[in-house]
Amino acid sequence: MVKENLQKVEENITAACKRAGRKRDEVTLIAVSKTKPIEMIVEAYEAGKRDFGENKAQEMKDKHDTLADDINWHFIGHLQTNKVKYVVGRASLIHSVDSYHLAEAIEKESAKKNLISDILIEVNVAHEESKFGLETDEVEQLVREISKLSHIRIKGLMTIAPYVENAEENRKIFRELKALSVDISSKNIDNVSMDVLSMGMTGDYEVAVEEGATLVRVGTGIFGERDYSI
Ligand SMILES: *Cc1c(COP(=O)(O)O)cnc(C)c1O
Repeated sequence: MVKENLQKVEENITAACKRAGRKRDEVTLIAVSKTKPIEMIVEAYEAGKRDFGENKAQEMKDKHDTLADDINWHFIGHLQTNKVKYVVGRASLIHSVDSYHLAEAIEKESAKKNLISDILIEVNVAHEESKFGLETDEVEQLVREISKLSHIRIKGLMTIAPYVENAEENRKIFRELKALSVDISSKNIDNVSMDVLSMGMTGDYEVAVEEGATLVRVGTGIFGERDYSI
């Protein structure tokens, strides 16, 4: 089932790229495997998937250390500074940096491990109170501060759009994140690129692709509903 679902989602992404006049290779599908067992990840891996997303540091560490080395692990959850040590050196991209305090912890751990960590800045475009992420007007200032840290590279922006019945309702949110990334890119800040836009989930990834997503994070649409009781 995982293989068929993956195929379907990839096809939908291809169609969305076509509608938007984008090249298919501009968009990477991240299979969000949080709460899902190793066997399901292996199934996706055997179908060719190499990008997986996890939102808990310990869970990502365990899966990373169990599975093949050529997987790109994306850390997409809220990251506490005391868990940074599990993620730095294991995640190929940390999507969810929303404070200087967290960036400093990533900087310190990256320096210790003698590597450079690629990160995205998480933006709460929808202004949802329950969500993490910066307000739009705080992003440039934080980007400027983090850009001075030598073991971190800012690659772009990420947002989590609200859950909606009709994906069209989130189009304006994706547009706003894209506009913000174009704006920040135009400032030519040293050590900062805005090439990556992580937006779109099972309910709305096609709209996100139409609006410029380069990474979409799809869980349910590939692995089925999550069971948090186990
Ligand atoms: C769980 C999660 C997803 C995937 O959500 P689905 O609706 O299952 O596709 C994407 N992004 C983040 C940050 C998540 O936590």
